[in-house]
Amino acid sequence: MYHSRLKNLRSAMQEAGLDALLVQVPENRYYLSAFTGSTGALLITDSECFFFTDFRYIEQAAQQCPHCTVVRVQERLTDQLAEHLAGWQGRNIGFEAHHVTFQQYELMQQKVPQVNWRPVTDLVETLRLYKDREEIRLIRESVALADAAFAEILPAIRPGVSERELAWRVEAFLRQQGASGVAFPFIFASGPRGAMPHGVASERVLQEGDLLTMDFGAVVNQYCSDMTRTVAVGYCDDRQREIYQVVLVAQQAAVAAIKPGVKASDVDAAARRVIKEAGFGDYFGHGTGHGVGLAVHEAPRLSWNSEQVLQAGMVVTVEPGIYLPGWGGVRIEDMVLVTENGHEVLTASPKQLLVCA
Ligand code: ZN
Ligand code: ZN
Repeated sequence: MYHSRLKNLRSAMQEAGLDALLVQVPENRYYLSAFTGSTGALLITDSECFFFTDFRYIEQAAQQCPHCTVVRVQERLTDQLAEHLAGWQGRNIGFEAHHVTFQQYELMQQKVPQVNWRPVTDLVETLRLYKDREEIRLIRESVALADAAFAEILPAIRPGVSERELAWRVEAFLRQQGASGVAFPFIFASGPRGAMPHGVASERVLQEGDLLTMDFGAVVNQYCSDMTRTVAVGYCDDRQREIYQVVLVAQQAAVAAIKPGVKASDVDAAARRVIKEAGFGDYFGHGTGHGVGLAVHEAPRLSWNSEQVLQAGMVVTVEPGIYLPGWGGVRIEDMVLVTENGHEVLTASPKQLLVCA
């Protein structure tokens, strides 16, 4: 697995004119090395793979990354790089411009002045767009656990319980069932708070007649899940039902548009058209979805200005919403795999409006 990933990376490096690539973004590092620790840098050349890390992780790196030569960093990575690259024949080393600080960049230039340090932004990220069979298996596990958490939490949703308590119950369940952590701070937004697309769980206590938007996900074997459901608390009125229905139709329209060769912006447009035609165009201000994998937000973006074309192996969310200040909001989010013939919705939880009492 790592050999095919490195092979693909090396052809991308060659195309970019790079003799080596320094990889430090944790997800990229894990993707190419299986290293789960917090500190380490991969240096990948056309024939070798070095893993630089400090005393704390030497043993772990040797175990997790047998395809790498482990190099111990004494104090600073740049010192070891300087030593290591002293007699090196290559010229151009790429570094992750979206991760390396300006201070580190200056230090690299100062300590290793004989090479061209070239900023790159999405070399490994582009490979990560296409999930292989093993990754899809792990993503399915993570999604299934989120689905199980939704079923688990439903009976606990009732007037009098706080958003924070519900969020904690979901988190505890996920951890008990084997998640290593949560994919992001959970959004549990009830009543008027639902108008905040990213309203993290607060002390607010649910009241009869609220809508409650729950956005959560697990990390299982390093892979994230991400799902949203909106439910009614106690009862729901006609307006809530109407707006929910608009979001559901928009969500289903976007899902239906997903297949290889389709522009991400067209998937976004499919959802946006439904919401706009229903008169809520101004109240859906975010993109329709994003890729999910080792990171909970990764490429491709499903938005009106995305240049991306969907291809088999990509895993994306579809999550339109309507947010009305003072009233609340509705969002429905599934994870969807782009397949050779179209798509497969991975999230299995029901999408009709549930009234919890
Ligand atoms: Zn989400
Ligand atoms: Zn999402």
